[in-house]
Amino acid sequence: MKFVDEYRDSALARDLARAILAEARPDRDYRLMEFCGGHTHAIFRYGVQDLMPENLRFVHGPGCPVCVLPMARIDQAIAMASQHGVTLCTYGDLMRVPASERQSLLKAKAAGADIRMVYSTQDALAIARAATQQQPAQQVVFFAIGFETTTPPTAVALKTARAEGLRNFSVFCNHVLTPPALRAILSDSADEVARIDGILGPSHVSTIIGSAAYEFVARDHGLPLVIAGFEPLDVMQSALMLVRQINQGRRDLQNQYSRAVSPEGNTKAQALMRDTLVPRERFEWRGLGWLPESALKIADAYADWDAEQRFPVAVTPGREHEGCECPKVLRGLMEPTDCKLFGRVCSPENPLGACMVSSEGACAAYWLHGRSR
Ligand code: SF4
Repeated sequence: MKFVDEYRDSALARDLARAILAEARPDRDYRLMEFCGGHTHAIFRYGVQDLMPENLRFVHGPGCPVCVLPMARIDQAIAMASQHGVTLCTYGDLMRVPASERQSLLKAKAAGADIRMVYSTQDALAIARAATQQQPAQQVVFFAIGFETTTPPTAVALKTARAEGLRNFSVFCNHVLTPPALRAILSDSADEVARIDGILGPSHVSTIIGSAAYEFVARDHGLPLVIAGFEPLDVMQSALMLVRQINQGRRDLQNQYSRAVSPEGNTKAQALMRDTLVPRERFEWRGLGWLPESALKIADAYADWDAEQRFPVAVTPGREHEGCECPKVLRGLMEPTDCKLFGRVCSPENPLGACMVSSEGACAAYWLHGRSR
């Protein structure tokens, strides 16, 4: 398949592996953090880690929006559906993420709440349009989640709803921002974080916000960052670029994913986001805690389509499953297989933490691609 097969070519992968082996100095370690869960899955699905020299390790970062969403936000969504009787629409990844009291959106649906899985914001808008004909009193809430990649469609949905006067549609906004999370990780004083030598930067997110958004990594933290595509050869070429930078003592921002990412990003998408959404003062991230200006909320001009204002709920934040190490996994402080529940009690069939549920979660990557205990 064009634009896919050439980035999975085994002969080229072997060439890149040889180049990395030749470049890596034997007298030091290379610890490269891949920010995105997409990178983590590429690394394990294609055996990239096994092609690396012994002294090069990938450290997994927090780049999975489902994994970093705190329980309280899922509790809020369940409460909106059960207390206010709204139709709650969301992406499939979220359905099985554990909420408080061993709840989940899927269990709430089984108990009678009207919770529906959708593939896009357009599906949610279509449900709202249909409801205006069949059940005029029915309210439809779209549970919006994701990094900057999935934010523009939410902005378009808000604009569409306002343009159509669709008053039975609203958005529960949980969009989070990548740069503040990366800044928080790199400011962590934990030994494991202090030993990170370079970053594989987000690819799809960067198509929206542009590579220039990561200039602070070299400037403020003295680390090289390479924006890396999600295919195995992208990851390997990016690792080679990082190893070269580290050996040469350079701390530069480089863009390996230049076929899709520009320094300024998608300015039209950014304008849509600016029109409809504004930064929250602070937002809680699972594993990282409360981070300032790290998420978006709906702008005042769109308050009529803001589910948090229209359907307020109070929830008592629940506790993570005892023994779940998701917070450490998300900060690169622990590998999933170091969690004593991994594979024994926790698996994709019986997930105890978000990192095992999400298709981008590090625990799911280890499980699916054979890194069992
Ligand atoms: Fe949490 Fe399960 Fe991962 Fe352990 S294996 S950190 S319990 S999600």
